[in-house]
Amino acid sequence: MAYKTDTQNENKTEARERRCLMCRERFESEWAGERICKRCRQTAAWRQG
Ligand SMILES: [Zn+2]
Repeated sequence: MAYKTDTQNENKTEARERRCLMCRERFESEWAGERICKRCRQTAAWRQG
């Protein structure tokens, strides 16, 4: 009875370290579509109507 439970989606596009497109700094994105760090997102928030 030695079942392996290595069926974790560790390679899924979830929270992982990415590089911000604006400041080029590394940040931890919460999802795949997030490519801008939270800092820049705040400053860029006003740009999105
Ligand atoms: Zn940034």
